[in-house]
Amino acid sequence: MSDEKRLDPATVAAQGLGWIDEATRAIIPPIHVSSTYLRDPDNAYSSGHMYIRADNPAFEQPEAVLNALEGGAGAMLFSSGMAAATTVFLSLKPGDHVVAPKIMYWALRHWLLNFATGWGLEVELLDMTDLVALARAVRPGKTKLVWVETPANPTWDITDLAGAARIAHAAGARFAVDSTAASPVLTRPLEHGADLVMHSATKYLNGHSDLIAGALVTRADDDHWARIRLMRVQSGNVLGSFEAWLLMRGMRTLFPRVRSAAANARALAERLSAHPGVAQVLYPGLKSFAGHAVAARQMTGGFGGMFSIRVKGGEAAAIATAAHAKIWKRATSLGGVESLIEHRASIEGPTTPCPPDLLRLSAGIEDADDLARDLEAALEAAQR
Ligand code: PLP
Repeated sequence: MSDEKRLDPATVAAQGLGWIDEATRAIIPPIHVSSTYLRDPDNAYSSGHMYIRADNPAFEQPEAVLNALEGGAGAMLFSSGMAAATTVFLSLKPGDHVVAPKIMYWALRHWLLNFATGWGLEVELLDMTDLVALARAVRPGKTKLVWVETPANPTWDITDLAGAARIAHAAGARFAVDSTAASPVLTRPLEHGADLVMHSATKYLNGHSDLIAGALVTRADDDHWARIRLMRVQSGNVLGSFEAWLLMRGMRTLFPRVRSAAANARALAERLSAHPGVAQVLYPGLKSFAGHAVAARQMTGGFGGMFSIRVKGGEAAAIATAAHAKIWKRATSLGGVESLIEHRASIEGPTTPCPPDLLRLSAGIEDADDLARDLEAALEAAQR
């Protein structure tokens, strides 16, 4: 293994921490598929591996790379981003109070309100751009977790991580960040006071829209982390070996992909801000965006590949715009090399806080002019 502390994170990712397969000297690791491992005659497991649900060697390299990129004390892969996130909440105890954002990945919001509450957590949703409201909401001794997402899907609200961490810790709560949209390329939440970082690895970490995976990274290898590890093993929320291998392959190109997508998103957000068919562009990189100053402080090297537009003419015009796009593919998800466009409110259902005229855009790594011309043509066709 190379000394990753001296290397730029882009080098760490591209070389997968410099790992080689000891048995064959292969640069790219084999795909481990065995579900079980030989026990020694003296009953020990000297290989360190017993059973695939407990300690799959396919996880070791991607977990070590992600941990190095986030600057953590440990990382764990899960079967999906939702599995990673829900494990954090389920590691708490019935009766615990948790605070989460009003604007967040909708399925997690739905799960919190419909399942976590049934299990006994007291869930409070807040505007996480407002630290005064957060300070008022936390209850010392009772609030066990403050969960934020920044930039937050789908309006890209920015939470001040250092400020929120201070409030959470003063109340004795853990502070967890869904950093899916930023990726470790653009934000390292542990450096801003987070205790846990969560990723839907389905998105930027993999980057090719061909697997589902989730990940957690911890600041401390403590009792809480041990409990999360035990929950992963015993609930069986584990990733498959092939997906872990694909994820590692995707992570090697994380830096150039994210930088390219972020440059495209910024150029598109600026260009579309002047378009007569667009009422508003939501992108943390725009100086006019409410969270821009905080984003500029805590994000490094760009503002991400995600942005949204609010289309003049309301919901019908937004849906028509998506319908006329050709290069932008009408599909859910984000963080792949191909650009995706989505009418979010119709995915999220009637209780969504997402405005009906909003289109969410995941900028890929295609040519920025091709992407801009396609969107402009679609907007014009929809306004006719
Ligand atoms: N968090 C964010 C910000 C997401 O966008 C998503 C999925 O879209 C998730 C979590 C859930 O991840 P997964 O689909 O991998 O379960």
